[in-house]
Amino acid sequence: MSDVVVLGTDTDAGKTTFALLWLTAFADRFAYWKPVETGPSDTDLVRRLVPAATVHEPALRLAEPVAPALAARREGRVVPIATVIAGLRPLDPKALLIESFGGPLSPLNETELQVALVRRLASPAILVTNSQVGAVGRALASLRVLAMEGVSVWAVVLIGPPDDYAAEKIERHGSVPVINFRPPNAWDATSLVSAVEAQRPALESCLSILVPSETSPAEVDSLVERDRRHVWHPYTPLRDTAGPIPVVGAADEFLDLGDGRRLIDGISSWWTILHGHRHPELMSALRRASERIDHVLFAGITHPFAVELADELLRTAPWNGGRVFFSDNGSTAVEVALKMAYQYWCHRGEPHRRLFVGFDGGYHGDTFGAMAVGRDPIFFGRFEPLLFRAERIPISPERLDDLLTRTREVAAVIIEPLVQGAGGMRMHSPATLSDLHAVARRHGVLFIADEVMTCARTGSFWAHTRAGIAPDLICAAKTLAGGVLSLAATLAAPEVVAAFDTDDRARTFFHGHSFTAHPLACAVAVANQRLIRTGNWIWHTDRIRRAWQEAAESLRVFPWITDVRVCGTILALDVEAPGGYLADVGRRMFEASLERGVLLRPLGNVLYALPPLRTSDESLGRIAEAMRAAVLAAGR
Ligand code: PMP
Repeated sequence: MSDVVVLGTDTDAGKTTFALLWLTAFADRFAYWKPVETGPSDTDLVRRLVPAATVHEPALRLAEPVAPALAARREGRVVPIATVIAGLRPLDPKALLIESFGGPLSPLNETELQVALVRRLASPAILVTNSQVGAVGRALASLRVLAMEGVSVWAVVLIGPPDDYAAEKIERHGSVPVINFRPPNAWDATSLVSAVEAQRPALESCLSILVPSETSPAEVDSLVERDRRHVWHPYTPLRDTAGPIPVVGAADEFLDLGDGRRLIDGISSWWTILHGHRHPELMSALRRASERIDHVLFAGITHPFAVELADELLRTAPWNGGRVFFSDNGSTAVEVALKMAYQYWCHRGEPHRRLFVGFDGGYHGDTFGAMAVGRDPIFFGRFEPLLFRAERIPISPERLDDLLTRTREVAAVIIEPLVQGAGGMRMHSPATLSDLHAVARRHGVLFIADEVMTCARTGSFWAHTRAGIAPDLICAAKTLAGGVLSLAATLAAPEVVAAFDTDDRARTFFHGHSFTAHPLACAVAVANQRLIRTGNWIWHTDRIRRAWQEAAESLRVFPWITDVRVCGTILALDVEAPGGYLADVGRRMFEASLERGVLLRPLGNVLYALPPLRTSDESLGRIAEAMRAAVLAAGR
């Protein structure tokens, strides 16, 4: 259950009245915290009138009933910055009802307004105002300001005599539900209980807005049972005996299961979640953007989020200029790169260049073009008769040189730089990558870096940067919007773009998907780029890499482990077992790690971890332990 921040349109709006009603009704689920209070203590009042409630001490209490910054100055004290106050949020097994002071724009300290603290608290907010004349204007003005400041309000509470007119106007113009509460007849515990009993349905409906309903055990059972009847899962046999794991929530490095268990997500979902689940800044960017826009087509239309994201991405590119072509998943980012590469040669008068070169162990997605260059016999053998011709060679600059010397038909080489993910987390050195690129350059062949898995995972934003190379096309997807939403981008170098830069409409790149450059995904991706620019993701990467190097030592001791390797935040090992990807050992390792509360999803006989960047040291230790347990299970 999430904490709730109570804001008022102004001083005396009715915040404490609402807090008293709420805690009287839900003391078993919510505790009270007023981080900063001035003048007569609301904390003491709540403690006195709701004896059943857990009431936490404020982070800062000041005597004079004026703005905290002023009250502190008069007492010769200083109000800490919002980040510090938010960091003092008490630990409580219950959710917190966090009461603010004054209005959202009341000064907090010498440099910040209270809204900075509200943003830091990153919890659903409700806005309280009294229902006297002027409620509509007060509520709407506050809602607009809060939206501009990136705080989204989940409900407006009117305190006082019911006012349907005001409620209807606020709902219409503020796009937010409005609930009316009468204050108690007197300020004592008995009157509060009567006021709550008389208004329980309204309180319950407010609770259901703020707190997503929890899934009961019976609902979880029925979920799995209905899933088995109606849903077809990716990469899963229809007669899968294990059945799906019901996940009902996610936060940081954890997944909450329907039966109340918490798993550590050791694989960042499908290698997507970058920082951690529901990172507050990404969630806040999503909420803010959703108050302005939903979806709009991207042909002949643009929006600020896509333009800003394209600017940001091009700043990370190894060339000046170039363009970003958006799509919506890793496979489509690859399809776009392949089609662009071929069309580039058509425009250059070399349409015979229609051969692509991929590498053993390479994987580039599940659509037809991506399958043709990935060509994994287990995943795609069935479709072999339908795939276009592509060469597949070992990762060897000499072999690439041989091939490119023999044929002038090659359009492009495609590789996952430094780590081949789905093919078994196989790693190669920056020097090898650099040599492969040099060979492609020498033969005048385009070079595609499929960074769908590697983006922000290997220690530099792009893995190819570590080889000091400049690919002609770069594909990104999974982590682009921090893993929150589906978004992909294919970055094209200036030379590729130049071949399309003509008035001839027949030379248009005819490709696009309905949800290309989805505004909400782009908004989250812009926030994600900002987080990346702050640079502490590199610190986290180093922290995880060091933990993995230590863990690798303790895993090498098992004789049935043939290789243990680390690159950035990825730790992988091979278990000697017949059967490769379809080996039963994969299932045994999956189950053993699950028993230790860690989600790992071996690629056959390859066990690996690839956790979100902000995974705590303790959780990294638990992942390493689960890997040891899995390896032991594999050796049985
Ligand atoms: N390229 C690489 C390197 C990948 O790892 C993947 C997905 N595992 C893809 C492309 C395809 O991405 P998506 O699943 O989003 O289509």
